[in-house]
Amino acid sequence: MIKIENLNKTYKTGSVEVHALKDVSLDIKKNEFVSIMGPSGSGKSTFMNIVGCLDRPTTGKYMLDGIDIEKLSEKELAAIRNKKIGFVFQSFNLLSRTSAIKNVELPMLYAGIHAKDRRKRALEALEKVGLGDRIHHKPNELSGGQKQRVAIARALVNNPAIILADEPTGNLDTKSGEEIMSIFQSLNEEGVTIVLVTHEPDIAKHSKRIITFRDGRLINDELVENRVVVNPEAAQK
Ligand code: ADP
Ligand code: MG
Repeated sequence: MIKIENLNKTYKTGSVEVHALKDVSLDIKKNEFVSIMGPSGSGKSTFMNIVGCLDRPTTGKYMLDGIDIEKLSEKELAAIRNKKIGFVFQSFNLLSRTSAIKNVELPMLYAGIHAKDRRKRALEALEKVGLGDRIHHKPNELSGGQKQRVAIARALVNNPAIILADEPTGNLDTKSGEEIMSIFQSLNEEGVTIVLVTHEPDIAKHSKRIITFRDGRLINDELVENRVVVNPEAAQK
């Protein structure tokens, strides 16, 4: 699904050049569940932005579902991104004055989906993340974990093949973090490919594979032994 070869990313700010990714090669297959780890500044977010088609590599090859992204125009790239990828961020990125359900409807509004269908799909997505009884709450009336669940519901409405989550549990307490991982585990069971960035080994052990970056290089890639599967019922309590 994701095939990356000798990828490099350099940022140039004035006369300062930062080589954020160095010769990164890897494959992520459909239905994998990958954690990306590594110190601050090691290139994790840069990697996620490229995988998510929000940015392009400086050199190297990125094939997404057999499509060479180098050959795409900006418009085509945006179309692939909207169709295939759902994003979840550490800071939730919800509109604060807008109800949960309207936040979830937003990507569908942009996609030109009819109001009735938007409502139906948003409701389904919120029910899926256990927030069927909070649809009219605004973000400041929800806990951190609930806000992140709204953000996941919003990421789900276009049925993405891949969910990319950059430190999705970074602002959450342990229990809420586990709830989020439980939701990701059930989505992964349903066939969604998940790639998430985390600093926390206890979060990473819920995934199936851990990739570690240091100084822009991929330095380790291993399968998780004794993966921890969260009991969804216990996590919802
Ligand atoms: P991480 O997510 O692992 O903390 P990043 O991918 O955000 O690391 O950053 C990797 C390096 O690239 C850092 O040195 C950072 O300062 C630099 N960097 C990231 N984004 C930009 C940007 N938009 N412009 C210039 N430098 C950047
Ligand atoms: Mg980062």
